[in-house]
Amino acid sequence: MKGQKDDPIRSAYQFFQTKQIERTRKALERNGFEALFVPDAKSAVKAILDMIPGGATVGIGGSMTLNQINFFEGIKGHGVNLINPFVKGITPEGRDELTRKIFSCDYFLCSTNAITEEGQLYNVDATGNRVAAMFFGPKKIIVVSGINKIVKDMDQARKRVWNLAAPMNAKRLARKTPCTETGVCSDCNSPERICNISVEIVKKPTRSNILILLVGERLGF
Ligand code: SF4
Repeated sequence: MKGQKDDPIRSAYQFFQTKQIERTRKALERNGFEALFVPDAKSAVKAILDMIPGGATVGIGGSMTLNQINFFEGIKGHGVNLINPFVKGITPEGRDELTRKIFSCDYFLCSTNAITEEGQLYNVDATGNRVAAMFFGPKKIIVVSGINKIVKDMDQARKRVWNLAAPMNAKRLARKTPCTETGVCSDCNSPERICNISVEIVKKPTRSNILILLVGERLGF
């Protein structure tokens, strides 16, 4: 019986993935971002904790990826001041207050909707707090992303978000929007629409330091 190492399909897939990650990482660095690859969720949490000193203020942007890698367990006992506007039971006013504080935090952690092999990021938001803090405010921005979010170029990034990530996120959030019935975006006018702001970060913003942490797993949408 052939072992996994001898599986030519698996090997070809791994070859493609390794090359794609390397192309993307180099392109991100050419565009002024820091870029790091780690193989799995556990190493991602370790890399994040190694970067953040105790006593730092750490803001959170809405991110399923951070939940999936168990970041919130990992950060416990690390001695940071965590600003998480998404904790259960918070009032809308309390959430707004915490969200505003995030713009002056030491570290801001979030994910992204798409990363291109040309080294750029594409994101769509409902309120815009996540995308705004991604390009200005926090002293250091750490974008954690599964490799499933890598696409060829900005055109593919837009397609990925509008055809896949946005309808799936609307479903996750149980929004009353057409896409949660059909699975397809119809550019709706629903009051519960989650796609109001789209941002292309094409190079490192002048006064922000952004690190992209690529994780060799399928994370988020
Ligand atoms: S614009 Fe509306 S239909 Fe399209 S993905 Fe967003 S919420 Fe769904």
